[in-house]
Amino acid sequence: MIYCAIVFDRIPGHSETIAGLRAAQDSDRVSHAWLFSGPDGVGKRNVALAFAQRLNCKHRSEQPNQDACGTCRTCRQLSDGRHPDLITLSQDGQFIKIAQVREAMKSLRFAPIDAAYRVILIQDADRLHEAAANALLKTLEEPAPRNVFLLLTSRPAAVLATIRSRCQQVRFRSLTRATVTEWLMSEHSLSQADAEDVAGVAGGSLTAAQLAMDEAATSLREEWIGYVAELPRANPTRLLELAERLGANKTGIPNVLDILRLIFRDAMLRSVHVESEKLTFRSKAEFLSHLQPTSAVSALRYIDDADNALHRNINPRMLAEHLIFGLRHSMRNGRYR
Ligand SMILES: [Zn+2]
Repeated sequence: MIYCAIVFDRIPGHSETIAGLRAAQDSDRVSHAWLFSGPDGVGKRNVALAFAQRLNCKHRSEQPNQDACGTCRTCRQLSDGRHPDLITLSQDGQFIKIAQVREAMKSLRFAPIDAAYRVILIQDADRLHEAAANALLKTLEEPAPRNVFLLLTSRPAAVLATIRSRCQQVRFRSLTRATVTEWLMSEHSLSQADAEDVAGVAGGSLTAAQLAMDEAATSLREEWIGYVAELPRANPTRLLELAERLGANKTGIPNVLDILRLIFRDAMLRSVHVESEKLTFRSKAEFLSHLQPTSAVSALRYIDDADNALHRNINPRMLAEHLIFGLRHSMRNGRYR
C-alpha cells in the first residue's frame, strides 16, 4: 500500500473551514497567525497539518483548489510531524514554558530550510504560561516573512486576548454522528451498524470514537477467548448458539477470524515452549497450554476454511457452524478432517 498523508479531502467534516483555508492560500491571503478553536478530538491538528502540507507540497500544481499530493517527502514528513521546518510546541508539565518559546523563536531568525513556509504549531495554546505568551506576542507583532503560526485550543477564552486579536480565528464544531459513522466505515472498515454504535458514544469526537473502538475490540477479544475456552466441553446446543452469534453479523466475521487466528497461533507457540513475551494473549488463555501442536494446526486450518468460504459467499450461518464444530473437534482430537 502506498503511504498517504492526511490531506484535506481525507479529513472528515469541517468542509467550510477547509474551503476557507484553501481560498486564503489561493488568493495569497495566508495570515501569519491562525487560532483554531473548538472541541477536543474533532481534528484541529489534522486540519493544521494538512494545511501545512498544502502550503508546502512540492508536487502541488498552482491551480486553485489543488490540494497537497500527500505522498511526496515534504507531505509525509509534515503529516508525521517531523519536517525540519515544522516546529511543534506543546505543554511540558502544566504549561508551555517561556524557555520553550524562546528556543523555538531562535530558529525564526533564519529562513526556512526546505519549505516555502515554516509552520509553528502550538497545541493547547491556552496552556501558554503568561511569560511565554508575552514572548510569543512579540513575535506575532513583528512577524518574519514565510512563518505561519497555527495555534490550537479547545478553550479560546483562556488564550491571552492580545494573542487572540493577532490571529485569524477559525472555529471548529463537533462532528455530526453521520460524519463520524462514515469515517469509521471508510478508515476503520467497521460495518454500518457497528460504526453507528461507536459514533453514538463518541459525541462528535474522532478521538473518543477511536477509544470506544479500542474498547469494543478489547471486549470482542475477551469474549472470544472465553468462548474458545469452553469449546472442548460445550454441548451441541451451546455450539449452535455460538455459531449463531458468529453468523449473525457477516461483516464482523473477519474480525473474529483474526482473533481466533491469534489465539491458536499462541497455542502453537506455547506448545513448542516459546517464551511468553512472543504471545499475543500473554496472561489470558492459560487453557491453551494444554493443547497439542496438532490441535492448533488443525484449528488454524478450520479458520482458513472459514476465511475462504467468506470470499466464496457461503451462507454465514453454515460457515460459522463448520468453524465452531471444527474448532471443537480440533481441540479434542487434534486432527483436521
Ligand atoms: Zn506533496
